[in-house]
Amino acid sequence: MRKSLYLLALMAWSQVAFAQAIEDEAFEWLQAYIQIDTINPPGNETRAVEFIARILEAEGIPYQTAESAPGRGNLWARLEGGDEPALVMLQHTDVVPADEKYWTTAPLSGEIRDGYLWGRGTLDMKGTGMSHLATFISLHRAGVTLNRDVILVASADEEAGGMYGAGWLVDHHPEIFQNVGLLINEGGRGQQREKELLFQIEVTQKVPVWLRLTAVDTPGHGAMPNPTSSVTRIVDALSILRANPFPPRMVPSIDDMFQSLALSASPEWEEPFNNMRAAIQDPALLSRLQTYSPYLHALTRDTCSMTRFEGSNKINVVPAEAWAELDCRILPDRPSEIFVDELTAMLEGTGVEVEVIMAFTAAISPTDTILYAAIEEVTGERHPGSRVTPYVSTIFTDSHFFRDLGIPSYGFDPMVVPEAEFSRIHGNDERINIAAFKRGVIDHLAIIAAVVYD
Ligand SMILES: [Zn+2]
Repeated sequence: MRKSLYLLALMAWSQVAFAQAIEDEAFEWLQAYIQIDTINPPGNETRAVEFIARILEAEGIPYQTAESAPGRGNLWARLEGGDEPALVMLQHTDVVPADEKYWTTAPLSGEIRDGYLWGRGTLDMKGTGMSHLATFISLHRAGVTLNRDVILVASADEEAGGMYGAGWLVDHHPEIFQNVGLLINEGGRGQQREKELLFQIEVTQKVPVWLRLTAVDTPGHGAMPNPTSSVTRIVDALSILRANPFPPRMVPSIDDMFQSLALSASPEWEEPFNNMRAAIQDPALLSRLQTYSPYLHALTRDTCSMTRFEGSNKINVVPAEAWAELDCRILPDRPSEIFVDELTAMLEGTGVEVEVIMAFTAAISPTDTILYAAIEEVTGERHPGSRVTPYVSTIFTDSHFFRDLGIPSYGFDPMVVPEAEFSRIHGNDERINIAAFKRGVIDHLAIIAAVVYD
């Protein structure tokens, strides 16, 4: 590892024409970008592509675009550098719907109030997207030789699974990701907690395995029940799952994360977090943990949420067929096929059929890369007293498409957000602190500069 990435980054800054106030430009872009409606569904991400394309054109940076379906635009651009494996900065351009009734401002207003920019997508993830764009343009303007290609990718459809965006690009434009060795995307960030500033780098996620259970049996009149029916079979299957939670286990990266949390945990949790391998053997503790934090509990075992089911459409008719759907999320240390086999075996006596609707591959990104080191070094220098920790997400982003390809992928934006503000992501009154955003833009630039300048 090179001696001081941060020093290199500092030297690089002087060449990046720091005085250009890229963070002010980035903020102006963000305010305009929030006002562009890319709510998914339907997405209309081509509007975002046109917006980013105009900014790149003004800089004379070439780019390519492709629509996966009408209106579902994707964009990518490349700064050419040396032979080191390329770095991708990945952003999604769609946002989730917002119910204006519950908002203080119009969700796409881009209004400035109380030091915040308000609007759907400010945190997830148009702010990060403009931070990526600002870094990309700064590197281009500086004209300093890069040790690797830097690729900006703006993709559609992340909020609905990415099949019209990142997933589609991997399938239809694999050339973009050839010789890519690092990827940075949304996920972790700087989190201002009560006692400390923690920078969380998301290195893996729980793996979604969405299942459908179907039962078929003799139909009939509700007045004359048979010993079994399609509905009783489904109920039996769900009861078995409810009564038999999956055994807990500790994955090394999750164990690291708990130990890191122990440093600032309340007295009750300090000891268990320091020794989760032992702690998870105590069912009472796990049940307390689930009440305290469903998120942390979900990191200790595979889980299935029962989310959908259907039997008859008439109260006095026993249906021939009944079904239920399960949102299962498994720890990322083994293939989903093994989990599905185990679950199927558990339900064998019920006669239900188990079908996989969707399942991703499990993958954990290593932490011994130059990008991880650059994040540690730059945040350490620029935010004295802060800590960096690997982070495991229970939800999924587009990163899994790239972890599947073996590309170390980190969910990370150095912008610092108070813990309490995270609930606005996908929620009401989503907004971004303007000063924190601008500082994050510069921190992000410093991190990437430390990776791509020799
Ligand atoms: Zn997102």
